[in-house]
Amino acid sequence: MPEPAPAPETPQFETAEYQGVTTPDWCRTCKQTVVGTYYRVKGEMACASCAEVAKGKAPAGSHGAFARAVVFGGFAAVAGLVLYAAVAIITGWMIGYVSLAVGFIIGKAMMMGSRGLGGRRYQITALALTYAAVSLAAIPIALSDYIGNDTSPQSAQVQQQASPESAPAADQGEQQMTLAKATGSLLLFGLASPFLSLADPVHGFIGLIILFVGLQIAWKITAGSEVPEVEGPYNV
Ligand SMILES: [Zn+2]
Repeated sequence: MPEPAPAPETPQFETAEYQGVTTPDWCRTCKQTVVGTYYRVKGEMACASCAEVAKGKAPAGSHGAFARAVVFGGFAAVAGLVLYAAVAIITGWMIGYVSLAVGFIIGKAMMMGSRGLGGRRYQITALALTYAAVSLAAIPIALSDYIGNDTSPQSAQVQQQASPESAPAADQGEQQMTLAKATGSLLLFGLASPFLSLADPVHGFIGLIILFVGLQIAWKITAGSEVPEVEGPYNV
């Protein structure tokens, strides 16, 4: 029975090796182990070659980073709009605390898209996206109210008669015009909705303040800096 003898030694050796691999001396950019000297790029450990890349390519690479931040922020804005509208429709809350979450997820998504780069144009974009998401959420909320209040069989009949299949061709162009006009008015109504809600001064004012705080959250998250700060070299 020679097997049990090496057994205690093997795990010890593996443990030692495992501990060696998990030391924090690895480049956060290329994931490789850092030997000798290291740098810090925005506070994160980086190897010499990644630090060089970060130093040299930052201004050139920042355009792609901004484009990615806008795309990520756009998706987050759509998600925020859906979240805001869903919470309002389901809970019937009149005060938009969800504005805070919308500002947060848009800011975070943009920073994820830019991989940590920020700056004034990121902040302005984050403000616009947060405002658009929160204000346009008023459209599905208003439509849900409208559908909820108008479920009579007569209105269903009218809708059936007005369906595109049964409409003569001449009316279709007119319908498209009406649809475009209706969409335009809906967008205007949505964008103005945070201020229209001042018709109910108390709720409207509180809603505006919360929206303002949500905008501030998005603004702060995307502050960052255009160029990553590279520090070092340090010894491991
Ligand atoms: Zn590296």
